[in-house]
Amino acid sequence: MIELTGTITNISPLHIGTGKKTGTFSKTLEYIPGRTIRGMVGYYLYNNNRKLFDDLKISEDSDMQKTRVFFKEAHPMFENSNSISSPLSLMWCKKCESLMQQDADECSAEIVGKKCLHEGKKIPGFITKNSITLKKLQKLKVTTQIETKCPIIRNGHTSPGSDYALSPYHIESIQPGTDFAFRCILEESYIADFKAALKKAGVFSGLGGYRSRGYGTVAIKNFKENQVNEIINKREREIANLSSTVIVANSPIILRLAENSVIGFDTVFSEYASKTSAYAGYDLSLQLSDKYQRISEAFAGGWSIKYGNRVSEIIPCIGHGSCAMISANDSKALASLEVYGVGEMTNSGYGDVYIMEGDL
Ligand SMILES: [Zn+2]
Repeated sequence: MIELTGTITNISPLHIGTGKKTGTFSKTLEYIPGRTIRGMVGYYLYNNNRKLFDDLKISEDSDMQKTRVFFKEAHPMFENSNSISSPLSLMWCKKCESLMQQDADECSAEIVGKKCLHEGKKIPGFITKNSITLKKLQKLKVTTQIETKCPIIRNGHTSPGSDYALSPYHIESIQPGTDFAFRCILEESYIADFKAALKKAGVFSGLGGYRSRGYGTVAIKNFKENQVNEIINKREREIANLSSTVIVANSPIILRLAENSVIGFDTVFSEYASKTSAYAGYDLSLQLSDKYQRISEAFAGGWSIKYGNRVSEIIPCIGHGSCAMISANDSKALASLEVYGVGEMTNSGYGDVYIMEGDL
């Protein structure tokens, strides 16, 4: 298997709906969910290359063992490097933005020979990996804009009226020229056709909402390919050197026991993690403690290509940045979780995780 990475740059404004609307205002997300990219590529392949659509099992919604392509969430980039979901366990100084020590009430960073002593806060959203190693916050902020549109009716535009359905509406969007880190995992033999499809899909299908209004045209380029085995070998050595390991949700994680969502890192998480590592050819057993976790709850939209490329259900799930201390029998097996993800709908970008050093 290959990890294919690249850059998604929006050429026109990009609107990624949050699923919620406040009056006539539509807010955008500041990242691109894997399911949105999967929807774009799936729609394009269905209409233009049915063989590749079928071969990749791109419409598989339930059995992650059968799927042949895993789309990851595309986060905004910071000076050409990828960003990660900010771990909920970390506190950052409100004044100097230094990483604070675990359980400290005040910042111990030295500023001009004096201790800073300001209090800290958690930072949601995306930060660079360097933020953690350099202990200095580099937070990503995408630039958004708001446009007001009038509904188009048969005999022209309308002016603001008392009729709610025909009132102007306001679309928030990400400014053109913003870079996002594209990443997916697939078999080597499909790479050439898949790259060609990605390039065309970005222009002809596009991403997100209001595409009929010219939104969502994207260029996907700067492709790089890495062997998954090599990535796992490299990460194995790094993970083995960590004094303590924390697993962090880089995207929402969907865990279910029968029909019920499980919010937290417990035996259900361990079972899904073992399934993933078995898929990658490793045998994983994880130890978790419910004392050492930080959890936020989110909602995932199940996105079915089979059923007309629509949201098919709303699923409670573990939110971005949730984290837990873990110990594992095998660093390689742990590294395989970073590649393939944990839980359900890992082909749509859910369940993306990374491992870091830390205490909770
Ligand atoms: Zn400080």
